[in-house]
This record gives sequence, structure tokens and C-alpha cells, in this order.
Amino acid sequence: MTIFEKIIARHIPAEIIWEDNEAVAFHDVNPQAPVHVLIVPKRVVPRLADATENDRALLGKLLLVARDLAKKLDLSSGYRVVINSGPDAGESVPHLHVHLLGKRALAWPPG
Ligand code: 5GP
Repeated sequence: MTIFEKIIARHIPAEIIWEDNEAVAFHDVNPQAPVHVLIVPKRVVPRLADATENDRALLGKLLLVARDLAKKLDLSSGYRVVINSGPDAGESVPHLHVHLLGKRALAWPPG
């Protein structure tokens, strides 16, 4: 089980801020911005590179959840949505997740 599966199963704690039958959102344990939320599908897709046509609706949903949470968390001056897929991107948990970062100016290009 990945750490995110353990959070979904409530085997380990997390600061969950939103959940439905398909996905869950919680604060990142090591935040890189004042707001740093992870949006995680309950169905295990290891990473974006492994997503299939079957995941199309789920992938769209994760972005719309990011949009809704950005509004709820008052990220009115902007936010960044990130998916790290694979080693060069720095992926560290092999369970697809969307990072939602905000409440500070974010540099570009990313490191
Ligand atoms: P990745 O590097 O795979 O894109 O992102 C994984 C993220 O999961 C990292 O930002 C890391 O801080 C976060 N993370 C790792 N373990 C835990 C945990 O046990 N709880 C929470 N809330 N976040 C975690």
C-alpha cells in the first residue's frame, strides 16, 4: 500500500479537507507554499504516464476539484496545479496526485 492508500483507508492520519467516493484532498505534510493541498484519486493509478482512456473522466475531475478547492481556500490571486510523473519530475509517491499550491508568488520556471 502506498502512503496515500493508507491515508484513504484512514490507517494513517492526514488533514483531510474534502472527500467524495472517487477522490480525497488533504494538506501536504511538507508544504511548499502556505497552501499546499494534494488531490488524490481513490482508484490507484500510479502516475500520469500510466493513465489510460479509462481515466479520462477522473483526470478531468481532479482538475475541477483543484479549481473548487482554490476557490474555497481563497486563492483569489492565483495558484499552481502540478502533477509530477516519473523520476525526472521528482515523483516520490507512486499514486497519482495533483498538487494545489498558493498564497505566495511562485517562481517560473520551476526547479
Ligand atoms: P510527489 O513528489 O510524488 O509529486 O509528491 C508527494 C507529496 O506527498 C510530497 O509533497 C510529500 O510532502 C507528500 N507526502 C508524503 N508523505 C505524506 C504523508 O504521509 N502525509 C501527507 N499529508 N503528505 C505526504
